[in-house]
Amino acid sequence: MAERDLQLSVFHINGLDCADCAAQLEQQIAALAGVGKVSLNFGAGKLTVEHDGAIIAINNMVEGHGYQLAPYNHLGTSKPLRRDRRVVLTAVAALTLLSAVVADWIGVASAPWYGLSILAGSWFTARTAWSSLKAGQLDANLLMLVAVAGAVAIGEWSEGAMVVLLFAIGNLLQAYTVDRTRRSIRSLMELAPLEATIRRDGREIVLPVDQVVVGDIVVVKPGEKLPVDGLVLEGESVVNQAPITGESLPIEKRSGDTVFAGTVNGYGLLVLSVVRQAADSTLARIIHLVEEAQAQKAPSQQYIDRFARWYTPLVMVGALLFAVVPPFLLGEPFEPWLYKALTLLVIACPCALVLSTPVSIVSAIGAASRRGVLIKGGAYLEEMGRIQAVAFDKTGTLTSGRLMVTDMLAFDGLAVETVLTAAATVEQGSEHPIAKAILVKAAGLVLTSGGGFFILPGKGAQATVNGEILYVGNHRLFAHALNLAEASAVGEALSAAGKTIVYVGSASKVFGLIAVADTIRENSQAAIESLRQAGVKHILMLTGDNAGAAGSVASRLGLDGVMSGLLPTEKVAAVRELVDRYQHVAMVGDGVNDAPALSAASIGIAMGAAGSDAALEAADMALMADDLHSVAYAIKLGRRTLTIIKQNIWFSVGIKLAFVVLTVFGLSNLWMAVFADTGAAVLVTLNGMRAGTGLGR
Ligand code: ADP
Ligand code: MG
Repeated sequence: MAERDLQLSVFHINGLDCADCAAQLEQQIAALAGVGKVSLNFGAGKLTVEHDGAIIAINNMVEGHGYQLAPYNHLGTSKPLRRDRRVVLTAVAALTLLSAVVADWIGVASAPWYGLSILAGSWFTARTAWSSLKAGQLDANLLMLVAVAGAVAIGEWSEGAMVVLLFAIGNLLQAYTVDRTRRSIRSLMELAPLEATIRRDGREIVLPVDQVVVGDIVVVKPGEKLPVDGLVLEGESVVNQAPITGESLPIEKRSGDTVFAGTVNGYGLLVLSVVRQAADSTLARIIHLVEEAQAQKAPSQQYIDRFARWYTPLVMVGALLFAVVPPFLLGEPFEPWLYKALTLLVIACPCALVLSTPVSIVSAIGAASRRGVLIKGGAYLEEMGRIQAVAFDKTGTLTSGRLMVTDMLAFDGLAVETVLTAAATVEQGSEHPIAKAILVKAAGLVLTSGGGFFILPGKGAQATVNGEILYVGNHRLFAHALNLAEASAVGEALSAAGKTIVYVGSASKVFGLIAVADTIRENSQAAIESLRQAGVKHILMLTGDNAGAAGSVASRLGLDGVMSGLLPTEKVAAVRELVDRYQHVAMVGDGVNDAPALSAASIGIAMGAAGSDAALEAADMALMADDLHSVAYAIKLGRRTLTIIKQNIWFSVGIKLAFVVLTVFGLSNLWMAVFADTGAAVLVTLNGMRAGTGLGR
């Protein structure tokens, strides 16, 4: 194709209900003239396509398969199509088949009834097979039709009709189960209201959320759902954030707090300032991430796809040999061998096998997202199931991160206020939890203005005040201070009590010390225990804090190890070492400071991601609420999903192989083969749907 400007469009495909048809449709669209890259997300029924404007061809292709192309809407999703006609035709096929059986029984002509049943039952199968055939592809539908045609040709009318009917019923059942799984994402989307009440020029007007812009003032009445992400300006209330974080208890919100679209306002009236367009609200982002995650192929699925690529042709060649070799070369009777060949054709369809992974993954990722745990793809879910060691960051992860200043002291006759003022002046430029604690303590003091703010990761911060560079941080910053020995003697004593010591001073002199203390999160202890129950072998803490503070947290939580005084690069090295030793290592951190360590781990888990886009994007898994229990939950979910996938694979491969053998020995017939095939597909789908359920809250 000549280089032309391609545009990118996104559509929903309504009625997309069969995983391997989706894969074929994707290839067929990609093969159209004027089409570039194509990606069809089966989990969400979403088509992303580069094209030169030739939407009509794409539309025809989609409709040829019996689906519907619909405009994409970030707050909507693909819808199931009404299946009335399919249901009616399947029912007609069943009734006519029954009539045929009765006709046989009482001894009148049954062929017309069988014929009718086959026609009615294969209508939709034929339509899809035809569009695949036009695109030069062999699909399961075509295999079935050839088998049926062959059966009719050798006079096995009842078998042919049975095959058609079972195949149609199996497909319908599958379509319904796929709808059900997809509904779990859809239920998320229906959370955010489509209209918002906004205050403009002193008047309140109701606008579609798409027209609300950043900075608009939105009014949310008690009991209403929040239409946008915002910052509370006025009012006080509790908000149920379950849709975002999975936390069932409402959270108190007052002026200055962040709130999210899709959450539910409690008793108070809230006035918000809009911080994001509705299209990139946290909820919309979650939905997007979940959709993408569900579309990603897990390793087990890639393996299956490879298997299916040689399995199907192989069995088809086998079928051909059966039909040709014994009758024509060995002088055997033709019909029994053709019959065996047709049965093999039916068995050649890898239907159940293809379904064994995606449904489980979609179901597990969907269920996790409803608990505020975002897993970015099947590969990460499977890896979670293998985790052997978990490393935690300390501040803000195992501890609350809400630090408090506990002690202050000054050297050389300086006033403590002077030390605090200097520290607060420097910390104005920092977002670190220590900085926040110092600024809270310094509230009310007049801060000198400073310039040249720098953050020194893992060490502290600096600023230039009155021409002198001041430092605030750990002892690493004061290697050249003349009174370091004296200062650190005092510091060590305080840090032995589990406190973090902040040194304040210039390059040559420590002015004083500020001790801050953190509290362990309420549920850290229980979360560590649940990790042990989940079979994690090694749990440790990595921190930039001093050994005293680190040791006191680690021993209270009963961790297997602790590494303190680490710079960010040393955290990365520590994680790499763990990966060498345990292969499957999860690192839990805050996603912003700890991003490099998170990406060095097999799985990087970001905490408290609800408010932070960076954390949401950076990690392989994000916890929307700060609930550490979610780590053990995800490990159990991963294990369970792996188990279910294995069951599905063994079951569907086993059934296929069993039927190949039965057929070769002439012990199977056509309708049994179809029953095994569609029956297995339905069972595998139902089993897959179990992946997300039953792990409790
Ligand atoms: P953690 O590993 O606990 O998350 P960090 O890597 O963020 O810790 O910081 C490591 C150490 O560096 C802290 O314990 C503290 O001693 C020092 N530090 C970092 N930032 C600051 C700051 N803004 N003010 C004072 N000390 C800081
Ligand atoms: Mg940290």
